[in-house]
Amino acid sequence: MKKNNGNDSVKNNCNKSLNNQTKNDSLNKGFKNPRYVKDEEAIIKTIFESIPKESQITTARFEGPNIALYTKNPRFSLTELTYYLSSLSKTLKKRFIVRTDQSIRLQEDETRSIVSKILPRDVIVSAVFCDDATGEVILEVNKPESVISETIINIAQSTGWITHLRRSPHIPSMSINNIHTVLKSSSKERTNFFRELGKRVFREPLIKKGDENVESENLLERASVIDKQSKTWNNKEVYIFCLGGVKQVGRSCFIVVTSESKIMLDCGINPGENNAIDAYPRIDWFDFKLEDLDAIIISHAHIDHQGFLPTLFKYGYDGPVYCTEPTLPLMNLLQSDSVKIAQNNGVYCPYEVRDINEIIKHCITLPYGKPTDISPDITITLNNAGHIMGSATVHINISGAHNILYSGDYKYAKTQLLDSAVSNYPRVETLITESTYGASSDIMPDQGIVYNSFTETINKTLTSGGKVLIPVPAVGRAQEIMLVLDKEMKDGRLIESPIYIEGMISEASAIHMSYAHYLGQDVRRSVSHGINPFQSEYFTVVNGWGKRDEVLKDQNPAIIMATSGMLEGGPSVEYFKEIATKENNKMIFVSYQINGTLGRRMLDGNTNEVSMMDKNGKVKVIPLKCKTQKIDGFSGHSDFNQILSFVSRIKPKRVLVNHGERSKSENTASTIYNKLGIRSSVPDNREILKLR
Ligand SMILES: [Zn+2]
Repeated sequence: MKKNNGNDSVKNNCNKSLNNQTKNDSLNKGFKNPRYVKDEEAIIKTIFESIPKESQITTARFEGPNIALYTKNPRFSLTELTYYLSSLSKTLKKRFIVRTDQSIRLQEDETRSIVSKILPRDVIVSAVFCDDATGEVILEVNKPESVISETIINIAQSTGWITHLRRSPHIPSMSINNIHTVLKSSSKERTNFFRELGKRVFREPLIKKGDENVESENLLERASVIDKQSKTWNNKEVYIFCLGGVKQVGRSCFIVVTSESKIMLDCGINPGENNAIDAYPRIDWFDFKLEDLDAIIISHAHIDHQGFLPTLFKYGYDGPVYCTEPTLPLMNLLQSDSVKIAQNNGVYCPYEVRDINEIIKHCITLPYGKPTDISPDITITLNNAGHIMGSATVHINISGAHNILYSGDYKYAKTQLLDSAVSNYPRVETLITESTYGASSDIMPDQGIVYNSFTETINKTLTSGGKVLIPVPAVGRAQEIMLVLDKEMKDGRLIESPIYIEGMISEASAIHMSYAHYLGQDVRRSVSHGINPFQSEYFTVVNGWGKRDEVLKDQNPAIIMATSGMLEGGPSVEYFKEIATKENNKMIFVSYQINGTLGRRMLDGNTNEVSMMDKNGKVKVIPLKCKTQKIDGFSGHSDFNQILSFVSRIKPKRVLVNHGERSKSENTASTIYNKLGIRSSVPDNREILKLR
């Protein structure tokens, strides 16, 4: 987290406006008291009339983005009832979720013992977590693929808990354990939250069908955000507010505004900036009320997409956060690490652990490909973006009339770790695409060529007796590089040497194993055959100072992978202090280096030395003597050609280009227009665009 000079006016303004708002919140709890509930009683009555008594549904109610049905007969409700529900779903245009009635749920201990009797012998349970708020039992098992649906029904019938399977990681994941603890301690709070959210998602629309240009107090309130003079709102209009992440990489944040809803897409920070005005999304810029937000959607766990989210909770946001299942623990890991780094280095962090925990309580995780209603006029679908595990493109359907596809960060090609980004959409009017590698010269070589040059350059250093430092982001690139190093060494192309791994990489790899079903087809296949791709005879995990000193003092050649990826804090910086000073060492950068970071300065090559604190707190001048090399082909971003083929596959009517340095975004936009004939532009931060 960034140093703060304490008198930054924007941060103060931002705090002031948010503080006022928190005060208002306590008087006018907009989110907690939704103004309207749409026909809930009538809908529930229809449901009860349409389903067989045998299902023993005791309660039906709006809950989160679904209608929850509570059953005393899980066997029937998970099998035969689903046929009735799928036709009801079509007529009511609502989605259902079956939960168990609280009265039939056994205690966790009892559940654990029954579960181990029901599961096949070769399936070993490493953790059982019963979530009272959802009636789900999360089972961590060694072989989730061996558990068939009949077994899951048996468990539900015998224990009263509906099974959610997860793979046991090779080491326990602190983040996942923390999530379970927070969920457990907040089950009542979450039950209420789901209930209130249900009322809000299915509230009476502000504008009735066929009624356009209607005047109302509520509408004016919303319209005033766009135009203070506006007296009416046309219900077909869709606006997008750019709060960050355009003409730059970092602090990605948009707000989509319709006549009914406001939803935020990503909420990142810019790790290369120190001042709040440049580091955080510009939520200070318009009359922004957190309670007006219907939802926040996080595309993936990188901090430039979610690093400001805890701060919103700190200042009173209490609505839902939607993301994929692996994004929650990965995000939790990175946020907790930011707090830890700030504490250790005595620098400012705008949020605390309790704000991170609020995210866990308000998070609704979605699988890929499941359309979910998040407000009266918005349905979202998350799909694989191929960037890091759990990364998603966000498809936003607005009343069936306008579709936005927000790409987040994406890779339109297969990698070792992940499948290529999903690109088959029947209809997209507006595509928002990233352009990290948006210059025409940003063409990545074929994987084979990338691996060869990676292996060759490492071999050169190892033969000369040097050490190779690879600074890696803990999430994504680290796992990709681990797979490649292991394969190259096993196949005999890379000289055998120890590979030291330090930082959050092991924890992130544990999360990758837990959610292995989110990885690419090849890795999934080997995981299901019992192979853990993140454990190899060549890997040694380094824990703490002592071991790190040993690694550095050892005269033998070695490969070191350490976080952070841009040399902004973390063990990679500690290794850097030693590795950089010797000519026969090498640093290899495998991920994008944001402007202003030490990694970027190293790559730009215009510095001969860097001043840094040593471990005794004294300033030390570090001469930069080691070799540096950048290998682009490992990037989790699409290269220039991949961006173009993604856009031409999606066939949108209009493209907005974001997440790139200005010249790269502009080049992407003009090429899309010139080559594909699609209207395309690069907005500005603090610009409002009318999409419809
Ligand atoms: Zn990213």
